[in-house]
Amino acid sequence: MTPHLALRAAVRDVIDFPKPGIVFKDITPILANATLFHDSISLLCDFTRHLKIDKVAGIDARGFIFAAAVADRLGAGFVPIRKKGKLPWKTRENSYALEYGDAIIEIHEDAVQAGESILLVDDLIATGGTAVAAAQLLTGLGAKLVGISVLIELSFLGGRSKLTPHPVYTVLTY
Ligand code: AMP
Repeated sequence: MTPHLALRAAVRDVIDFPKPGIVFKDITPILANATLFHDSISLLCDFTRHLKIDKVAGIDARGFIFAAAVADRLGAGFVPIRKKGKLPWKTRENSYALEYGDAIIEIHEDAVQAGESILLVDDLIATGGTAVAAAQLLTGLGAKLVGISVLIELSFLGGRSKLTPHPVYTVLTY
């Protein structure tokens, strides 16, 4: 079986979590399997072969797992983008719409420098709202967002088009 097929087979659909109508893509079976986790990081890194990357930014919380491993594999630094109230130093914040209400994410204002090349990594793109908000935080600090790599894209929700002109790379598309 190819790594792609093995990863796809390992993603567990959880119906009606965290609320009715949502099919939650549970990636914990990938994390728990040494080969699958290694392969998921390899595939996320494959996209970036032609890119120069100074730092990898990850989105709270499942994004951290993939982004930190990608950063280490690429020899890059890691930058956390967190839910409001978690980062201890001076922050910039950005709000975005969720299905019900709004959410706010934050970044340390000295986490990236103007002109640095940043790869944004998350576990999944659904509507794209989270990734757009994170991308705005990075570019707002003057960083160059060279790409957005995610393990899973729910393409029927159209998130990718909101991220134009940033290149979006996805391992598994549904
Ligand atoms: P969105 O802002 O709509 O693109 O949502 C993306 C964020 O919400 C990601 O960080 C995911 O971890 C989480 N998420 C949204 N929908 C799902 C889903 N169906 N399964 C798993 N995680 C999801």
